[in-house]
Amino acid sequence: MIFTNVAAAPADPILGLTEAFKKDPREDKVNLGVGVYKTDEGLTPVLKSVKLAEEKLLKEESSKNYLGIEGVQLYNKVVQELLFGTDSAIISAGRAFTAQAPGGTGSLRVAAEFLVNNTDSKVIWVSNPTWANHKNIFEAAGLTIKEYRYYDAATQGLDFSAMVDDLNTAAAGDLVLLHGCCHNPSGIDPTVEQWQAIAELVAAKGLVPLFDFAYQGFGDGVEEDAIGLRTVAAAVPEFLVANSFSKNFGLYNERIGAVTIVAKDQAEGEKAFSQVKRTIRANYSNPPAHGALIVSTILSNPELRALWENEVTEMRERIAKMRQLFVETLAAEGVQQDFSFISGQKGMFSFSGLNKQQVEQLKNEFGIYIVGSGRISVAGMTTTNVPVICKAIAKII
Ligand code: PLP
Repeated sequence: MIFTNVAAAPADPILGLTEAFKKDPREDKVNLGVGVYKTDEGLTPVLKSVKLAEEKLLKEESSKNYLGIEGVQLYNKVVQELLFGTDSAIISAGRAFTAQAPGGTGSLRVAAEFLVNNTDSKVIWVSNPTWANHKNIFEAAGLTIKEYRYYDAATQGLDFSAMVDDLNTAAAGDLVLLHGCCHNPSGIDPTVEQWQAIAELVAAKGLVPLFDFAYQGFGDGVEEDAIGLRTVAAAVPEFLVANSFSKNFGLYNERIGAVTIVAKDQAEGEKAFSQVKRTIRANYSNPPAHGALIVSTILSNPELRALWENEVTEMRERIAKMRQLFVETLAAEGVQQDFSFISGQKGMFSFSGLNKQQVEQLKNEFGIYIVGSGRISVAGMTTTNVPVICKAIAKII
């Protein structure tokens, strides 16, 4: 019997929470665990731009033949333009190579496996804290994980000097995972000046940045959110990007993202990219088409693109409003503790500062589900559930 001695895996800290939420019979339960955007009605609808692109595809698509290993070519082109800008010198020099991949997760996994199997970069520095799945993905691929300090609980801000101190101990060739924007879980991003300092540090030490860019458009805007990536990109000869369209196109279940490698020149990039493709071939052969066709249809069509940009703006602004409402409602409920830092954070998440025991109490006594670290998905707040959440917090604090 080969399965007898298989130990049960621990529940995933985020997806496990959703399972528990589904089983909870309470009608006024609230799930602020998983990072999924909700409208004020608590729904996660298909974007209008996506529906229109799908209608177009249904009419025009003429074959379901296999894609190449790297996926839809137009998609890979528009991804590069979104990441680096249409006038990017990296693109015109032919230094960037992109392969469509299944979501941000699949992109990170392909990047990590490629690095482990083909380069001497086998150590990756990740922020403390970081998205819980980073460690799973990188360890599964065979990378060794080290942490750099990031969040300062005392100031509820970025501990930039500690981050710099830790990265200064990294060795040349080590990988550094950087969240492109909307840091998950803290909601705290470096300033433009800090990005510049990070760029100088990684360049001086010969570190290799791996950008995880899962929230482009959810911070300050589609172009604005790329500033960190573009600042570092201008300073280093080689880096990688794993991006995702799960959130900013609402294409969660289409599993659409991309892995991009940028080499010091085109010839080196071509060689390295052949190994990225080999990694993909050994994993899933070639990617599914639908998500990539949606994204490339939207981004290459001026009207659909304008509609999508409006929809991203709407999502971003709604989240910002919920941050504000949350802070104001907590104050109105008489909570003395200062939560004003939450309105300055970016993206879907906030570190609330609530401790494990308080998180448990919210779940057990009030049916409010947040991640054990105190991370709240602000994108799941609505004008209806914010008063419920704030009343509960006021009772347990
Ligand atoms: N990277 C970060 C920081 C994330 O928060 C997420 C999703 O929550 C991902 C990557 C993965 O995105 P995807 O669902 O496209 O795999």
